Amino acid sequence: MKSSYQAEILICADCGEEFVFARSAQEYFAEKGFSWKPTRCKSCQHKHKERNGKNRSEVTARRDLDCSDNARCN
Ligand SMILES: [Zn+2]
Repeated sequence: MKSSYQAEILICADCGEEFVFARSAQEYFAEKGFSWKPTRCKSCQHKHKERNGKNRSEVTARRDLDCSDNARCN
């Protein structure tokens, strides 16, 4: 049974604000096998993810487009 998690207060590395590392988040991290803790609050995490994720999905989308256009990716 996973019931040993307790909400933790962490400091965001980006904005310096305190944020809660909730039990549900800790369980999620444990499930994924992450041994680290989040370093950013939710809004900074979101900004960070948006910045990184956008570029990656744009590249992927473009590659997919090229593949269907040229039909020579295989
Ligand atoms: Zn923050």
